[in-house]
Amino acid sequence: MTRPVLPATQTDPVVIVGTGLGGYTVARELRKFDPQTPVIVVSRDDGSFYSKPALSNALAMKRAPHDLASFDAEEMAAQLGARVWTHRHVERIVPDEHVIVVDGQRQPYRALVLATGADPRRVPVEGDGACDVRSINDLGDYIRFREALASCRSVAILGAGLIGCEFANDLVAAGHAVSLIDPAGVPLSRLLPAEAGAVFSRALSDAGVDVRLGCGVTAVSRREPGYLLTLTDGNVLDADIVVSATGLVPRTALAKEAGLRVEAGISTDAWCRTSAPDIYALGDCAAIEGRVQPYVLPIMHAARALARTLCGTPTRVDFPVMPVVVKTPAVPAVVVAPLLPDGRGMVEAPLQDPPHAVRAVCEDVVTRRVTGFALLGAATAEKAALLKQMTSSGYDQERAVS
Ligand SMILES: Cc1cc2nc3c(=O)[nH]c(=O)nc-3n(C[C@H](O)[C@H](O)[C@H](O)COP(=O)(O)OP(=O)(O)OC[C@H]3O[C@@H](n4cnc5c(N)ncnc54)[C@H](O)[C@@H]3O)c2cc1C
Repeated sequence: MTRPVLPATQTDPVVIVGTGLGGYTVARELRKFDPQTPVIVVSRDDGSFYSKPALSNALAMKRAPHDLASFDAEEMAAQLGARVWTHRHVERIVPDEHVIVVDGQRQPYRALVLATGADPRRVPVEGDGACDVRSINDLGDYIRFREALASCRSVAILGAGLIGCEFANDLVAAGHAVSLIDPAGVPLSRLLPAEAGAVFSRALSDAGVDVRLGCGVTAVSRREPGYLLTLTDGNVLDADIVVSATGLVPRTALAKEAGLRVEAGISTDAWCRTSAPDIYALGDCAAIEGRVQPYVLPIMHAARALARTLCGTPTRVDFPVMPVVVKTPAVPAVVVAPLLPDGRGMVEAPLQDPPHAVRAVCEDVVTRRVTGFALLGAATAEKAALLKQMTSSGYDQERAVS
């Protein structure tokens, strides 16, 4: 028998779990409409506000890790008119009672927003150095990485996705020896068509990155100093530091244990509503209408809509066309991945001059409307024109509802 859900009282606060982009942006947007409602933002980290994308180009931007946080938790609390609880761990949600348990203490909520982010995915690696392989998924990780880097020269990066490629470019430009290793045949294999990926790979190599594609890492063994990596193609290589950048797994454990529906992430409808009353989710932890979109723009759109919903005006998240910008100065890239690849052709036109320029446009084979694109190097100048085409043809509206 399902238990009745206790109605939340109006005096209970809106509780937001997470002080990343998702959590803080909801709080900020909420305050635009509602200066009164009590808001508590809970985080297991120190609650400082920083731009996570800035981690992977901080060397190029000449930014010291400790300068990356723009506001500490106290300043955020003052700005938001909220209580910000730092170094506190949300252990449990009791949806039927509208309560969360934070470090053993019960905290009632009127509405609960889960913005708990994602954990780095780790691929299994053998060897006594496997536990020293680092991930860089928040400012704390990055501060520790930069401390280690101060006395090191070479870095091996496992995974040539967006984050691996950005770190590779940033490190090589700062004078480090970088190896970038990925089992796929091209970098950014989930974003770029193969031919564009090959050009991207060449550009990273030309910039000095040792790009090892089509092979993985089986073992990381300690040496004095550094590590020896054994690759699946039988080769070995040395590195002072090993970084894993093999993707993210949405943090769903809290939601799952509370009985909320979880698929690719915490499942929500287009209003960020989970399967439990008055519990919402957004950001890297959430699958909004089945899609996890771990990028800044989707989070900002979701936060704006959710803030209105929390203020009593239920508002759908309508995602426009949102390009992903890859911060690799050696070969800048902009991608809008087509939503529906079936029946649609990718028209590729790699340009000879200037080097590393690629224009790859995906069109609907019937209507010839642009449904996605990938631009590299000088071709990124076409971004605005292609976005305009997608918008004026109404394709962005179709994406919003599909
Ligand atoms: C190096 C790097 C570069 C990136 N570059 C780009 C880019 O160029 N463009 C782009 O669009 N995107 C980029 N991204 C992705 C983007 O930064 C993320 O999608 C976004 O920052 C995620 O925000 P979030 O609020 O969902 O999660 P997070 O920022 O991870 O925040 C999660 C929060 O939840 C808290 N938390 C989790 N569990 C609990 C618990 N049980 N109790 C209490 N607190 C909890 C954590 O302490 C944290 O405060 C990049 C990501 C990385 C790592």
